[in-house]
Formats: sequence, structure tokens, C-alpha cells
Amino acid sequence: MDIIDQVYQEDRAPKAPGHPRILALANQKGGVGKTTTAINLGTALAAIGERVLIVDLDPQGNASTGLGIDRRNRSCSTYDVLIGEAGLRESVVPTAVPRLHIAPSTMDLSGLELELGTTPGRAFRLRDAIAALNTNATPDNDYTYVLIDCPPSLNLLTVNAMAASDAILVPLQCEFFALEGLSQLLQTVEQVKSTLNPNLSIHGIVLTMFDSRNNLSNQVVADVRQFMGSKVYNTMIPRNVRISEAPSYGKPVLVYDLKCVGSEAYLKLATEVIQRERELRAH
Ligand code: ADP
Ligand code: MG
Repeated sequence: MDIIDQVYQEDRAPKAPGHPRILALANQKGGVGKTTTAINLGTALAAIGERVLIVDLDPQGNASTGLGIDRRNRSCSTYDVLIGEAGLRESVVPTAVPRLHIAPSTMDLSGLELELGTTPGRAFRLRDAIAALNTNATPDNDYTYVLIDCPPSLNLLTVNAMAASDAILVPLQCEFFALEGLSQLLQTVEQVKSTLNPNLSIHGIVLTMFDSRNNLSNQVVADVRQFMGSKVYNTMIPRNVRISEAPSYGKPVLVYDLKCVGSEAYLKLATEVIQRERELRAH
């Protein structure tokens, strides 16, 4: 990927100690469940006691809207942070969910790549902003998880997310073309790993919009599990109308309908993510 070659060789400062776990929700395909997973995994992690910051890195701002953040409350957004006019903490707004905060985005973000041009260090804007977040944390406003909601492309925004992250979480929709594009994504991760961020890994692949009555859905699950093995989380997110209704009320599905199968699945996914974190740390 050209953008990675261009920014490679630029300085790489070490990370501050005790930083939160930083996970990017990435897949260059649109409509696969990145934003839905950012919102609901974030909510589920917060529900079980983690302190979570969602960074909305999509100019569409769906994560911000889905969490009920009014446009008027986005006067300081991730655009201001990445362009260097604000610190990440200045952009953060609380959500209705305790322990869940968001750095919202606006359409301005779509112009960032052009505006930054060939500015040195442009791939590390987000990494540096998150590092600064830790240095001025207090016990009640530090985060244990940062979830980055990526746009549906492999552009400078996604590269910033990958350069800033410990690991990538890939939502994959259970449909015919699911595996198409996955190899390109994995290739990009490898490229970022060998250049901008040697510590980057794949946290896991989460199968979304699973429909057990659909033979195709079952076939896709079998194929993805065969291809990606243990990288695929055991938890699958079912296709569930409550999940798709919730954002129009500006609520995570866990707040909209805690008892539905979608909420249950995201809670299960959160425990699996935490379990995987423990295993990683033990090694
Ligand atoms: P992305 O961020 O990858 O573009 P979204 O999370 O916005 O994808 O999801 C795309 C659409 O699919 C949205 O309308 C969302 O509400 C819907 N959706 C996502 N996950 C589910 C699900 N498990 N069941 C039903 N609808 C879903
Ligand atoms: Mg999205």
C-alpha cells in the first residue's frame, strides 16, 4: 500500500507505559458491522467494568450518531485532534452509558488526507494523540480500552488506526463475499506490522449478521473457520432486528433491549475479548 511506504522511516517514539488496550475495528468493506460492534462491544465492556473510549474515525460519524451524540456536541471532533488543533481528551464526550465515552467525528474528517498531504508523521497522529491521553489521565478518567471505529477503506485514517493499535478486530459479515477482501486486509496489517507498528496483531475475527436458518450463512462460517482457525471468536453475532433498530434511538442495543439475542451476543463477545486479553498477557 503506497501510503505505508510513504510514511515508513518516520520517527517512532516509544509508547507511554500503562496504556489502555487499543483495538481497531477494521474492514475496508462497508456495512459489515464495524460501527455496530464498536458501539455494542464498547457498551458491553463498560457494562462489565471496563472504562472504554470509542474513537470515531469514520467521517460518516455513525458511531457518534448511534450513541446519541448530537451534532451540536461535536464542536471538537477527531478531525480537530488529527489536524493538531486539539488534544484527544478535549474532544471526548460522555455517553448515556456509564464508563463509555466517545471522541466523535464529523464530515470534516473526509478532507484530512488531502489537508495533511505529505506532512511528516501523518500516520502517527492518532497514536501520538492516544499516548498523550495517558500522560494526563487521572484515576477516574483513564481508559482500559480504546476502540477505534474505522472508515470502510484502507486510507490514511485506517492506517492511523492500525499504527496506533495493539490489535485489529475484524468484523466479517456472513455473506457470500465475506472472504473476498479479507486477504487484502490481512496483507495491509502485515505491511503496517513490518513498517509502522511492529507490535500490531490480529485480535480476532467476529462473524456478524449470522442467520442459522440460512445455508449460505452456515457455509460462510465453516469456510472462515477453516481459513482463519482460532483467530475466529467462538461468539457469532446473529442477525437481529433489535440491533439494527437501536441506533435510530441513539442507543446501544444493550440499552435499547438488554434481553434480546443481539445484546446477549455482544456481552458474550466482550467476555471472550477480555479472556483473549488475559491469555495474551500471560504469554
Ligand atoms: P459498518 O460500520 O461496517 O459499515 P454497520 O455496523 O454500520 O457496518 O452495519 C451496517 C448495517 O447493518 C447497519 O444498518 C446496522 O444497523 C446493520 N447491522 C449490523 N449488525 C447487525 C446485526 N447483527 N443484525 C441486524 N442488523 C445489523
Ligand atoms: Mg461504520
